[in-house]
Amino acid sequence: MNDIKNLAEFADKKFGQNFLKNSAIVQQIIQAMPNDRLPVAEIGPGLGDLTKELINVRSVTAFEVDKRLCEHLRKSFDEPIRQKALTIQCGDVLEHWGQNQSLLDKPYHLVANLPYYIATNIILRALKDSHCQSILVMVQKEVAEKFSAQSGERVFSALSVLTQRVGYGELLFDVGAENFVPPPKVTSATLLIKKQRSEDDPEFEDFLKVAFKQPRKKLSKNLAVRFEKDKIEALFLQLDIESNIRPHEATTDIYCHLYNELTKDNVNGREINISRRNKSRNAQK
Ligand code: SAM
Repeated sequence: MNDIKNLAEFADKKFGQNFLKNSAIVQQIIQAMPNDRLPVAEIGPGLGDLTKELINVRSVTAFEVDKRLCEHLRKSFDEPIRQKALTIQCGDVLEHWGQNQSLLDKPYHLVANLPYYIATNIILRALKDSHCQSILVMVQKEVAEKFSAQSGERVFSALSVLTQRVGYGELLFDVGAENFVPPPKVTSATLLIKKQRSEDDPEFEDFLKVAFKQPRKKLSKNLAVRFEKDKIEALFLQLDIESNIRPHEATTDIYCHLYNELTKDNVNGREINISRRNKSRNAQK
C-alpha cells in the first residue's frame, strides 16, 4: 500500500486494527472456505489483503468502518468494484446489520479477520442470521475455543451450546501475534462454524446465562436461582442427568430438554411452551 508509510502508526486501536501480513495464512483461510459459489460478506477488510484473494473466487460485499480505509479500498479495487465483483459498505457493520435482519439479502458465507472488540457479538449475530450459511473468522484464540468447545471440555460454555444448536464449530488453526502489524497482545485462531439452520431465541440465551452463571458450581444450583428446586430434581431424574453435573459437563441436547421442560407454562390448565410460543426459528435452505 503506497499511501500508508507506517502501518503500525496508521493502525487505529479503537477499531481493533491488526493487519494480517502473512499471505500463507490468507491462503489457508481461502482453502478452508466451503466448496460452493455463494457470495461472501467480509467484515473489516482493512487494507484488503484477504479481500484481494476472496474476489478471485467469490463476489464479495465488504463492510469497513474506517473512512480512511474505505477510501483506500475504493482506490485500490477500482476495477473489481466497477465489475461488481466487490461492493464496499462504509460504516459500522453493527448499525448496518439491524436486529432480526440479514447482513446480505441472499444466502452467503461470512469470512473475516474480525476486530476483537466486537468479534463475539458479530458471531452471535451471524448464528441468528438466516442467510448466513457459515462463519469462517479469525478471532482471539479464547473466543474460538469457546465457540468450538465440546461438552466436557473446561471451556464448554453458553457460546458452545448456541453454536451446536444450529451447527458445528471447529477451531482450524492458531495464528501467532507475529503475523500481524501491529502485533496484538493475544494469540489468534481461525474458527469455522458450519450452520445447518438459524435460530433467534432470546429466551434460550437467557436460560443459558442462568445455567452458566457460576460455571464451577453444580448446574442444578445455578438453575435453582430461576426455577423450582423440586422441578429441577424431578427433571434430572427423568432425564437421567447426574445430580452433581457442572454446567460444562452437560450436552447441548440436555440443555435443550431442560429448557423445553423448565419453561413450560400452565395457562388455563393447558401446558404451553414459552420457547415454542415465542421463538422465531428459521429453517435453513
Ligand atoms: N481484514 C484485514 C486484515 O486481515 O488485515 C483487517 C482486519 S482488522 C483485525 C479489523 C478490521 O475491522 C479493521 O479494518 C477495522 O477498521 C474494521 N472494523 C472495526 N470495527 C468495525 C465495525 N464496527 N464495522 C466494520 N468494520 C470494522
